[in-house]
Amino acid sequence: MILLISDLHLEQERPDITRAFLDLLAGRARTAESLYILGDFFEAWIGDDAMSPFQLSICKALRELSDSGTRIFLMHGNRDFMIGKGFCKAAGCTLLADPTVVQLNGEPVLLMHGDSLCTRDVGYIRMRRYLRHPLTLFILRHLPLKTRHKLARKLRNESRAKTSMKANDIVDVTPEEVPRIMQQFGVHTLIHGHTHRPAIHKLQLGDVAAKRIVLGDWDRQGWALQVDEQGFSLGSFDFAPQENRTLALPSSL
Ligand code: MN
Repeated sequence: MILLISDLHLEQERPDITRAFLDLLAGRARTAESLYILGDFFEAWIGDDAMSPFQLSICKALRELSDSGTRIFLMHGNRDFMIGKGFCKAAGCTLLADPTVVQLNGEPVLLMHGDSLCTRDVGYIRMRRYLRHPLTLFILRHLPLKTRHKLARKLRNESRAKTSMKANDIVDVTPEEVPRIMQQFGVHTLIHGHTHRPAIHKLQLGDVAAKRIVLGDWDRQGWALQVDEQGFSLGSFDFAPQENRTLALPSSL
């Protein structure tokens, strides 16, 4: 059995998501052959040399899973594209390029984060090309920590302001881009995240039936795609109820 997840946006401020992820690691992921994380695993990442205690604890949890025998594959998202070899080595995971073709159930499947499919957002695509350039990455990695923190905050605020202003169709994938890239890589199944619109879309590639599976983001619930002999099943699950923080006062008061 193989599990695929994306867009957890892990951060210290969301202990509910963290808990749900650790539960997945201790549960279903243990029995999985491989776990694929298709980007935006962390809400922000400013460098492997600047891991917070929270991020270190996630790194350790991944390492434990990998030591238990589950192979872990990680792809960059638009928020954590600075994750490097240092983290992957410590966490026991393999970094995947975006896009990558893998064999799932004996079928070639194209894996992507999904942001590069949103080509109608011309400004974003331009910025993406710039930010992912090896030279930019080199410079970013060598900036002082303080500057990197500042930049990360700025990027986050800008992306929030922009997505709230733009039409729905900008942040979703460009429909024509889907068959184009699937044909380019010779696949009939594409799996990606990023758009926060979990679904299994059927489409035709010439005479052949094809599908695009969109993983869900973890916010009010978790999402995972399970691949086994039964095929591909996309499912959500509720987070464990939060601890009740309000004090129960005796009724006599
Ligand atoms: Mn994303």
